[in-house]
Amino acid sequence: RAVQLYEKVQINTSCMLRPLEAPFRYLFGPGPSNVPPRVLAAGGRPIIGHMHSEMFGIMNDIKKGIQYAFQTSNNMTLAMSGSGHTAMECAVFNIVEPGESVLVAINGIWGERVAEIAERMGAKVHTLVKAPGGHFTNAEIEQALAKHKPVLFFLTHGESSSGLVHPVDGVGDICHKYNCLLLVDSVASLGAAPLLMDQQNIDILYTGSQKALNAPPGTAPISFSERACHKMFNRKTKPVSYLLDMTHLSNYWGNDGKPQRIYHHTGPVSGFFALRESLAILAETGLENSWKHHTEVAEYLWKGLEDLGLKLFIKDKDLRLPSVTTIAIPEGYNWKELLAYIMKHHQIEFTGGLGPSVGMVLRIGLMGYNCNKANAAMALAALEDALKQCRKSKA
Ligand code: PMP
Repeated sequence: RAVQLYEKVQINTSCMLRPLEAPFRYLFGPGPSNVPPRVLAAGGRPIIGHMHSEMFGIMNDIKKGIQYAFQTSNNMTLAMSGSGHTAMECAVFNIVEPGESVLVAINGIWGERVAEIAERMGAKVHTLVKAPGGHFTNAEIEQALAKHKPVLFFLTHGESSSGLVHPVDGVGDICHKYNCLLLVDSVASLGAAPLLMDQQNIDILYTGSQKALNAPPGTAPISFSERACHKMFNRKTKPVSYLLDMTHLSNYWGNDGKPQRIYHHTGPVSGFFALRESLAILAETGLENSWKHHTEVAEYLWKGLEDLGLKLFIKDKDLRLPSVTTIAIPEGYNWKELLAYIMKHHQIEFTGGLGPSVGMVLRIGLMGYNCNKANAAMALAALEDALKQCRKSKA
């Protein structure tokens, strides 16, 4: 007779006996966006070992794909095992040592996040702040660099919480004049708006897999310039995170010139398959075509929104992020009701604001695979219907 050696924990598993339910949705928010069948199929391939030679070959391809997408020849280019936040933390943790000064441009949620990440690891954080939708002139940036003498300056290229694409020209040169490294977030803009890592002298650039690249969430490309490598590989203290330590990650990605790759962590094999396929699609399409296409579809959407009597949150067309459009919440409507109506009746996801832009905007994202005029027309029709149905009564 079997002896019961343990006391069973009683868990009701009836939910686990139902099949997985994941309905189809039109993901027309700021991400994740729908994943094309080709990328889904790549992610569904049989797993191989994370240290098999074929996997290293795939990782080398990913590195090339990222170098192309970022327009950089940096050797220190790789994909993080984790979402965009992993790349943010990796950049800050590896570049900055406790007590060093960091300058963060905050004009939406992403600067707020980076300021918090830097503060948590013991950096002296200085901020340049504007309301959502605002941007910083190079003169303002230079003044703050001269005042605070940071080792790192953070700027969001595609501010997805406000729908702004921030000018980057000249910022890298100003940073270098003050012996500061430039860190840029392109999670929401990569592939949708022009960004040239080497030409624009960006020292650390990262993005996410789930926006215009159309891979599933969970991997995040990142690249470091020679200058950034010099700082991060000559630090006095070890970075606070073992998982995100670039000394280990550079070996895992074969970037450190050592003949042997040593186990560090088990990378997301399926996620890397899918990321490789999405980068392949971008390489086939061509960056310039991708930028042009996003702009054309965005302009079509903006015109349609204005024809519906809506006001775009970013007034200056040149500062509008083509991948994520922000609409000022129309008077006489409850934004949550509009979103719920559109989800219920059209299976379309739009979202409200995020962080400081909550209650200010509605956001429509058309990125990569989702970015075409038919989808823009569908989004406009859904919004038109919601505007008819959801007007608040005056009572
Ligand atoms: N930066 C920007 C500009 C983003 O839009 C996002 C995701 N919405 C992130 C960073 C964070 O990425 P993740 O959610 O993949 O961690």
